[in-house]
Amino acid sequence: MPDYNPRQVALQQLAETAARINLPDPIHQKLSHPKRILTVSIPTAMDDGSERVFTGHRVQHSMERGPCKGGLRYHPDVTLDEVIALAMWMTWKCAVVNIPFGGAKGGIVCNPKTMSLGELERMTRRFTSELLPIIGPEMDIPAPDVYTNPQTMAWIMDTYSMNKGYVVPGVVTGKPVEIGGSLGRETATARGCAFCLIEALQALNIPIPGSTVAIQGFGNAGSYSALFAEEFGGKVIAASDSQGGIYCADGVCVKDLMQHKEETGTVVGFTGCDAITNAELLELECDVLIPAALENVITARNAANIKAKIIAEAANGPTTPQAQPILDSNNVFVIPDILANAGGVTVSYFEWVQSLQSIYWSADDVDKRLRDVMLNSFRAVHEEATSKHLNMRDAAFNLAVGRVAKAQQLRGIYP
Ligand code: NAD
Repeated sequence: MPDYNPRQVALQQLAETAARINLPDPIHQKLSHPKRILTVSIPTAMDDGSERVFTGHRVQHSMERGPCKGGLRYHPDVTLDEVIALAMWMTWKCAVVNIPFGGAKGGIVCNPKTMSLGELERMTRRFTSELLPIIGPEMDIPAPDVYTNPQTMAWIMDTYSMNKGYVVPGVVTGKPVEIGGSLGRETATARGCAFCLIEALQALNIPIPGSTVAIQGFGNAGSYSALFAEEFGGKVIAASDSQGGIYCADGVCVKDLMQHKEETGTVVGFTGCDAITNAELLELECDVLIPAALENVITARNAANIKAKIIAEAANGPTTPQAQPILDSNNVFVIPDILANAGGVTVSYFEWVQSLQSIYWSADDVDKRLRDVMLNSFRAVHEEATSKHLNMRDAAFNLAVGRVAKAQQLRGIYP
């Protein structure tokens, strides 16, 4: 949709929340503006001897409740408006699960699929050196997002540490376990989403065993969401990625599908399945739909055709504000992104705490703490929704914006 602007969506969500919770205008104004935006040029030596200059952004939306936190995205469609929106959503996400971080996001306009590992490393290291003045364990802590991964974080940590002259593991999260990453981080977004899903299925009295699940996007968030859905007894009937989708009414074996994706680079062509498009996947008859790719996929155009009873937004911003009322009127229970995918930033917070203390927790410990955070957060949002007759998104925004506003009010404006 050419007129879709994620920044406008984020501002509209904030304005609607401000009206619902009677947010004082000066606080609304302050939260409408990112604290800091840095756009940099990233000259990079390419393998063929040429040089290319990429553009990268880092947006810090809020430090009201703690250092900024948010992922880095490598994608050809990255725009500054998108990064601003994603940074705002990070602020609300950290607040909704009540962890002491503000929101940030970053991105480089590039097509990582066409770049070699060496090119990606050189681009990442140069980007990091451009970000040196504004990142750090007390200031802003990047993490992986679309088409970035633990290896990317290792390069950032190394570049930052080399410039400081000592090892600074707390500058990033989502790094490999061997250099201070947390057990459970890689699967955390999906694990958190699964905890929310179980709660939602119970709240709606949908039997968990045999519940049918369709997943758009089969990367970190999507593939592990599929695995955990299968683990809790669900049946994964469809999955997709940027190349297309697959459908099997009897359900797929998720481990086999993950292996197929590993070997071929796509879910397409998986044995025993029919080919479907991404658009068809969204409209499948199923109990649970998990959008786990990019934003702006459930819109006013297709919302009325969605047949899922629950949408768990593993992706950020998959549903447009115009689609939400249509879903509401069809009684689709939406677990909003700022709650459904908050498991990732929650375990990032655990990783940061471990990195700062140089004490490392067991996988069980991480999992239990994540479960506590996700269940408490889901129940608080559900209670707000039920008591105020709101959908889950509006309820989550009420709590999140309310918490950030309270911190802003207590701290006041300097000087
Ligand atoms: P990823 O790079 O691991 O996977 C992205 C997946 O989306 C890939 O399978 C890709 O093929 C697919 N995809 C890309 N374009 C698509 C299209 N047009 N149609 C269908 N599929 C498409 O990224 P990820 O980390 O899994 O992130 C996915 C979403 O989850 C993003 O919105 C991200 O912001 C959100 N998220 C991720 C985390 C995390 O910890 N990884 C945390 C919170 C939110």
